[in-house]
Amino acid sequence: MAATGAPTRARALAELRSDDGALVSLVVDLDPRDTPTRADIGRRWHALVDAARREREGLERAGRAQFDAAVEALAAAGLTPPDGVRVRGLVAVADGGDVTETWLAQPVADRVVVGSRAAVWEIAGHAARPTSAVVIEVSRELGRAWRYQDGSVGELFDAGVHAERRHGQGGWEQADLQRWHDREARLHLRDAAERLERLRTEYGHHAIVVCGPVEATSAFSEELGPWASEHVAAVHADVRDLQTDGIRDLAEEALGELRAGREEELFEALAAQRARDASSPDDPEGLMAAVSDARVSCLLTAPALDIDVFSCPQCGRLAAHFHECPLDGTPMQKEPSGIDALCAEVLVRDGSVWIVPDAEVARALGPAGVAALTRFS
Ligand SMILES: [Zn+2]
Repeated sequence: MAATGAPTRARALAELRSDDGALVSLVVDLDPRDTPTRADIGRRWHALVDAARREREGLERAGRAQFDAAVEALAAAGLTPPDGVRVRGLVAVADGGDVTETWLAQPVADRVVVGSRAAVWEIAGHAARPTSAVVIEVSRELGRAWRYQDGSVGELFDAGVHAERRHGQGGWEQADLQRWHDREARLHLRDAAERLERLRTEYGHHAIVVCGPVEATSAFSEELGPWASEHVAAVHADVRDLQTDGIRDLAEEALGELRAGREEELFEALAAQRARDASSPDDPEGLMAAVSDARVSCLLTAPALDIDVFSCPQCGRLAAHFHECPLDGTPMQKEPSGIDALCAEVLVRDGSVWIVPDAEVARALGPAGVAALTRFS
């Protein structure tokens, strides 16, 4: 799957609607540190399904059949992540009996959303983050690369060579033999570097991690093409004999650093916007108007957030308080899940969503726990 998969999926969920308010979404934390056994996960899943069932009373009669089908489909869901993927969370959205499962490599908090929209917050936040890396191990003989994507690891290529033993053949001098081996090693590393560079067109990888003995990694670095040079995030001269778990750890570490750097840039841009622009939408009312006017390029949110959002049933405009729509005078309605409404409206207007994972850092967003970078300021 290309790295563009997550944004496309987030956008599709943001556009999903049920006029009768019968979409049912369950978000479940699968982090092994929180839920150690399958039985525990099963219990928590059924508690979420029961919580969803209790929302039936509030539904219009017209939506009940769709709602019942959704709840039954979720109750029957297998909760089996794809093979070989390190999974920490699941978002399951049921539109009648049709369930869309999105497995996430980062932790989430349990919640239930029933309404006209799908739960899209976590997936939107996930879509904006770097999630794809190439890990490559090189030596005089090795040139093996794997792709890490969202918790899963797959091999990309194996450009290994098994140097022929030329000892005793035709009276090679030791020095000639050494030069021959050095040249062969160099050609082999060049070949691996060229194969790596060709990946630029195949996937939207965010980071490259290079492992192997220092003489090989430094020679390899000199052979890298322009794209690969620019994307090397880490070189580990002390790491050998990579296995799946080690590849995951190295990729997640590199992507974690990349994410931290990206977050720092977003906060710097936010501080600059606030200093420069008196109309920076820092209160919820101004922020929701900016979202409705398609002025938000990136919505930043705290990791846990309960926010009141009202929307116009006529034109979809958002507001932080109940009033009549300024465009068409229709009385606005409270959204069952404010944060999902906000994120969906940002996504459908080509914006992105960044969830600040650290609650302490998120305080810089302001008392409402949300902030927005605008396009035209
Ligand atoms: Zn309106």
